[in-house]
Amino acid sequence: MAFPVTRLRRLRRTEQLRSLVRETRLTPDSLVYPMFVCPGEGVRKEVRSMPGVFNLSVDEAVKEAREVHSLGVPSVILFGLPDKKDEVATGAWADQGIVQQATRAIKGEVSGLILMGDVCLCEYMSHGHCGIVRQTPAPFSLGAAAMRAVATESPEKKKKAIEGMDTAAGEMKARFVQPQFEIDNDASLELLARTSVSLARSGIDVIAPSDMMDGRVAAIRSALDEAHFQNTPILSYAAKFASGFYGPFREAADSAPQFGDRRSYQMDGANLLEAMREIELDIEEGADMIMVKPAMPYLDVIAAARLRFDLPLAAYQVSGEYAMIEAAAQNGWIERHRVMMESLLSIHRAGAGIILTYYAKDAARLLA
Ligand SMILES: [Zn+2]
Repeated sequence: MAFPVTRLRRLRRTEQLRSLVRETRLTPDSLVYPMFVCPGEGVRKEVRSMPGVFNLSVDEAVKEAREVHSLGVPSVILFGLPDKKDEVATGAWADQGIVQQATRAIKGEVSGLILMGDVCLCEYMSHGHCGIVRQTPAPFSLGAAAMRAVATESPEKKKKAIEGMDTAAGEMKARFVQPQFEIDNDASLELLARTSVSLARSGIDVIAPSDMMDGRVAAIRSALDEAHFQNTPILSYAAKFASGFYGPFREAADSAPQFGDRRSYQMDGANLLEAMREIELDIEEGADMIMVKPAMPYLDVIAAARLRFDLPLAAYQVSGEYAMIEAAAQNGWIERHRVMMESLLSIHRAGAGIILTYYAKDAARLLA
């Protein structure tokens, strides 16, 4: 039946009718609140590009976790800012690591809150990449000049040859200014597995690897099982795209790469089919839940994953999504609460049953 018999506006007339036929409903139990834990005591330092989001010392993180729990939000995900960084991400897997400390403290004080542990190395590496960095051989050789320097007998000639070598190297450097490096996938797996076991041991309930190395879910699963954490689930950041929307997070977690970018391991934003392969492989490797990140620019990926896979599906509304809404709201250009709820509803409607969001507390308050 078409118009005038059918009038879709009939069911939009009042809020009661609209509510009756509403297809998607947000509830606080689908939300996860991200928290950034830093060293010190009494520290509550606002992230400049994320108003309302803080770096918290362990004691403050406990208070925050208590508040999150009291609002009906069932889970937090923890990120760490270590006091020292190095080339093997010691802070990620040390028993006294900042997230391990925070986990023990929160577990002791706030019962019933699900603690997720983000597993990545970038916050703990001096270079800010998500895996072990290996120098690759230069695309040119200094062999000939070096041989000349060694073969020359008189010190004067040697000096001249070395000068020539320096000039040659300088020219080559000018031509190849980009440092040559590679993220060593397989070597990184061991550190990711070690980090996961350490987090589980400290009391983390859900292990959430976000590094995008190949094979990490299988490596983490077998390490957890071997350490008798068979019951600790893995929420895999299965389709994580290289994205400009992560900008503010890098300030919050102090994890900007010191050189290069993350495009050799995070996904290309153009690829939906590849995202399905990433998810499929993670499921084969033993993921219990899967995630798409970021959320709003990748709603189609969320929707496709929902149709294709039966696992619980999460989406991460990332720092840049939050910062854009906050900035526009501060300028009076949009209604903060309305846009916040609309963005969360859209992510839920696309198919994500679990939403990681900096709005978890605010949304829970509105939904109460
Ligand atoms: Zn990372």
